Amino acid sequence: MSGRRFHIRTYGCQMNVHDSDKLANLLYHGGFESASEADGADVLMINTCSIRDKAENQLYSDLGALREWKSGLPGRVIGVGGCVAQQVGDSLLKRFPHLDFVFGTHNLRLVPSMLEAAQRGERRSETGETRSLERFDLPLPHPGIRGEEQGRAFLTVMEGCDMFCAFCIVPQTRGREISRPAKGIIEEARRLAEHGVREVTLLGQTVNAYGRHAERRGHSEQAGTLPFAELLSELNAVPGLERIRYTSPHPLFFDQALIQAHASLEHLCPHVHIPLQSGSDAVLEKMRRRYTRDEFLGITEGLKAAVPDIALTTDVIVGFPGEKEKDFLETLDLVQAVGFVDSYSFKYSSRPGTTAAEFAEAVEGPEAQRRLEALQEVQRSLTLAHHRACIGRRVQILVHGESRRGRGQLCGRDAHHRLVNLAPDAAGAAPRARPGEIHEVEIVEATPHSLIGSLVPGEASAGIA
Ligand code: SF4
Repeated sequence: MSGRRFHIRTYGCQMNVHDSDKLANLLYHGGFESASEADGADVLMINTCSIRDKAENQLYSDLGALREWKSGLPGRVIGVGGCVAQQVGDSLLKRFPHLDFVFGTHNLRLVPSMLEAAQRGERRSETGETRSLERFDLPLPHPGIRGEEQGRAFLTVMEGCDMFCAFCIVPQTRGREISRPAKGIIEEARRLAEHGVREVTLLGQTVNAYGRHAERRGHSEQAGTLPFAELLSELNAVPGLERIRYTSPHPLFFDQALIQAHASLEHLCPHVHIPLQSGSDAVLEKMRRRYTRDEFLGITEGLKAAVPDIALTTDVIVGFPGEKEKDFLETLDLVQAVGFVDSYSFKYSSRPGTTAAEFAEAVEGPEAQRRLEALQEVQRSLTLAHHRACIGRRVQILVHGESRRGRGQLCGRDAHHRLVNLAPDAAGAAPRARPGEIHEVEIVEATPHSLIGSLVPGEASAGIA
């Protein structure tokens, strides 16, 4: 297979981004190299998202357009994975005759063999959900794929979700909760740190539910899991790891131990992304979120008491079926009361197969749009006020790479997860810093989306191994 190139298009959440990284790693270990564009590739894979219908429609339009790509060179192969693949399985093969294979969210390990089969002309679909822990046994990062992501890595600690929120398709596409034994997580963190990774983000659909089933049944020892706060404490002791993050937690699983971990663990970042979804008790109940606005506020107050300058970010859905103006105003009120530093807000999008798809009292499109814009306006001013308060402070940033502002400018994130663009030096030259290094920066300017900082002269506090 040597000399062949692959290209992966990824849609959706960080879990999908990480799955694409895992796929790329498997293919590198199989002798492939990556191509930055589809035109330079022999194998094209699409990692799909089904959280909103827009993402699903994008797949169908991509696949239609790829008929021409495939006929452009003999031997080209197309594979589709991710949540849409998990849901619709081999019906995709029937609908798109030029598609070679379909793989579900639990079947990444089968991709190299499916690729080989495709080269023999076999079309396969593998979407069987499995409770097997083998899905976590993936090879270490291949040296060929270390690029601008140097210095930080995702680390899967659990997969799946048992919460069945009324609007969400994830329990169907990602299956039931399954937690990875702590030993493997800690070993992987150690190896990553030995390879220069300074920051890990623990990943799971409900990441702070890690190990909860085994704990509830008194099986933690057999399952090899720990309470989530203890897992964080073990990771905090890994030499070389300077930052630990986790995403996405569910409010229900913020126990005192986790809140206290934020106060006591030196390397646990002072940032939590805690999905709110709605500030109205009536809507939260319909959404089946299993907490009230007061309980949510209690958690954020607890986190602020533990770490006074903690940065809290969130997700909000507006226009959920039955959401009245009063409910929406309660959401606006709660967003302001918490003072979120940032939020990802969406208009409700009905997904077939979810409970909410059957709900009446849809909120009309223009009204949902108005609420979305009103919420985003409130968030913009909260974010800007927060960013302005940072001017003059010194922060440590982990350099990620080139900024979206282009012109060779660099950017990174501080421990609070604020995006910091590095200003050119006095002579107009790009600052001397490399991805993966941690540098001290003085914040000199604030915009609604990011901060601008100037490098404080001195050595990087951490280099790449
Ligand atoms: S907790 Fe709710 S929103 Fe999050 S993945 Fe599970 S079902 Fe979806």
